Amino acid sequence: MPLDFELTEEQKLMQQTAREFALKEIRPKAKEIEEKGEFPWDLYRKCAAQGYIGMTWPEEYGGQGLNMFDAMLVVYELVKADPPVATAILAGTFGADMIAEAGTHEQKSKWLPKLAKGEITSAGCFTEPAGGSDISRFLDTRAEKIGDNWVINGTKQFITNGTTASVFVTLVQTDMKVDRPYRGQTEFVIEKTPNVEARKYEDKMGWFASPTAEVRFNDVRVTDDDILGGPSNLNRGFYIGMMFLDSTRTAIGWQSAAVAEAALEQAVSYCSEREAFGRKIGGFQALAFRIVEMATQIEMLKSLCYRAAWMVQKARENPALYGEESVKIASMAKWFGAKTAVQACDLAIDIYAGYGYVESDLERWYRFAKSLEIVEGTKEVQKNVIARLLLGRELTRTF
Ligand SMILES: Cc1cc2nc3c(=O)[nH]c(=O)nc-3n(C[C@H](O)[C@H](O)[C@H](O)COP(=O)(O)OP(=O)(O)OC[C@H]3O[C@@H](n4cnc5c(N)ncnc54)[C@H](O)[C@@H]3O)c2cc1C
Repeated sequence: MPLDFELTEEQKLMQQTAREFALKEIRPKAKEIEEKGEFPWDLYRKCAAQGYIGMTWPEEYGGQGLNMFDAMLVVYELVKADPPVATAILAGTFGADMIAEAGTHEQKSKWLPKLAKGEITSAGCFTEPAGGSDISRFLDTRAEKIGDNWVINGTKQFITNGTTASVFVTLVQTDMKVDRPYRGQTEFVIEKTPNVEARKYEDKMGWFASPTAEVRFNDVRVTDDDILGGPSNLNRGFYIGMMFLDSTRTAIGWQSAAVAEAALEQAVSYCSEREAFGRKIGGFQALAFRIVEMATQIEMLKSLCYRAAWMVQKARENPALYGEESVKIASMAKWFGAKTAVQACDLAIDIYAGYGYVESDLERWYRFAKSLEIVEGTKEVQKNVIARLLLGRELTRTF
């Protein structure tokens, strides 16, 4: 058998445990949590106790040491129970995967165990007011070396956990004299101090359990030891950030598949409940065909996600062999995934009709799904990445 799609018994057990946990702990509380509009610390800690925070991090730093694929199996089950709330929890450690991947022993020991226990949250700060899609330009968040200190000033926007995070992994311009701006960018591990100010956006379309904020760095003083991975990573931040995005874009693909499947399952079950014009609505061929098309699209997405997780894991082990391919596949999973999630919610609401628009989980999920098309690079940005790898840099230089 050259290729085997069957999961191992251990993987099936992991899936089932995560599903049971999520249906018991996340699903029943989700609506209330979203209505409160605050980060769900209790549930975050419960998930941490279950080993669902920092799943791919090494065990010596509090993680589970899982490979990307196994971690995604769990992510999928958690998100399927309630997409916005589960994703808020999983994003509680946003940015910290960079510490796990590239941090020094001191940085990992200081931050990862507390994060893995659900005691604190983290943030990953790339986007700036001048434009989030292009982080390869000269960033406005800058660090100046004064004596032994780096003094950081600037503003990042739309930052997940901006108001709750204890640590901010932040991309900063450290050299303005480079030929390409991204060759002068550095990731700093910045601890929350009064010099890091955050303002939560109160008006938001959805995903209310996840705090999104503008974060200002006002004369924040750090040293070479706070460069992610230590002084040798000065001006290597952009590359670390890009590697991180391969993982997160793959994760968004899986989260999207979970959203899409959860919405479709609701739609399918409603088809055999609801009667109109004297028959069950599933008996209308127009609706049945839309379900068929969406189910097929979700299957395609899941296959893509399986391969993306496998490829990103391989790239971690051997970047020279799998680097470019993993970038392409991760962007495909992100773009196609988010689009599928939005379309599946749209279809489910069409099928529920009035009851989809009012008092249903679907309207919450629909609003959340839209965020998947924006975070970590819009669909246009994903297509730019893919086009560059398919057509070459020369042809796509003007993008
Ligand atoms: C809920 C939420 C959470 C977020 N969390 C974080 C976080 O934790 N950390 C973080 O750093 N950021 C975060 N973001 C920001 C997110 O990554 C950015 O919003 C996204 O990258 C787009 O940047 P922008 O909003 O500045 O859009 P812009 O860059 O202003 O883009 C505007 C439009 O122009 C298009 N466009 C731009 N450039 C091109 C191009 N070259 N070719 C074609 N089209 C183009 C875009 O696709 C988009 O349609 C979050 C955003 C949201 C909504």
